[in-house]
Amino acid sequence: MIRLITDFDGPIMDVSERYYRVYRYCLTTTRRPNQSIQPFTKAEFWALKRAQVPEAEIGRRSGLDAEQAQAFAKLRKATVHTMPYLQYDTPVPGAIQTLEKAKALGFDLTVMTMRRVRELDEALLRCGLGQFFQANHRYCLSNTYQKTADTKDKPLLMERAIAELPSAPTWMVGDTEADIAAARSQDIPVIGVLSGIRDRDRLNHYQPDWIANNFVEALDIILEHSGLSQVSA
Ligand SMILES: [Mg+2]
Repeated sequence: MIRLITDFDGPIMDVSERYYRVYRYCLTTTRRPNQSIQPFTKAEFWALKRAQVPEAEIGRRSGLDAEQAQAFAKLRKATVHTMPYLQYDTPVPGAIQTLEKAKALGFDLTVMTMRRVRELDEALLRCGLGQFFQANHRYCLSNTYQKTADTKDKPLLMERAIAELPSAPTWMVGDTEADIAAARSQDIPVIGVLSGIRDRDRLNHYQPDWIANNFVEALDIILEHSGLSQVSA
């Protein structure tokens, strides 16, 4: 049995529409009456996010002054994970089929995310993804957890998972430096996917073991290196 630990947002869920709507809302809310702003298109905005341009800087480049940009970033942080916006998340094309394939091949599927329980449950329920992850294979933050930084919090989740789950050869798939840090902390091979919130340049910088375009390709890499590629052919 091989364990596949997957991050949620990026490999499985596309959060770009949610993030963009929150961006537009925060921009509109922060601007002064009659102040002209220049909102980015969704494609432009998402490219900036994937290049890891800080939130305040995105606000500034959209026409806010420095002080407004700080308020904008603060409002964005308080809004982006709220329930009214979570409904805009959609599964990444091919992700559900890949989960089905991995399940059929006998993989032990575990999800590991910086979402809180209620935020993860919303998506699992709405998108029919709960079937892939047993209750004790869902590693996320409690509804009251005090977040520090993803690169610190995620290795803690990984530490708990490795302590609690039966020992097995394990792979990690994720889209950010937090996933790579979590995998590294337990010597787990990690595949970075480009379907999330980091572009190739950023992912390269954080040095995952492999970079794949998406979850579909990530599973292929795992199969290839586990001697299972014939099974899937
Ligand atoms: Mg992610």
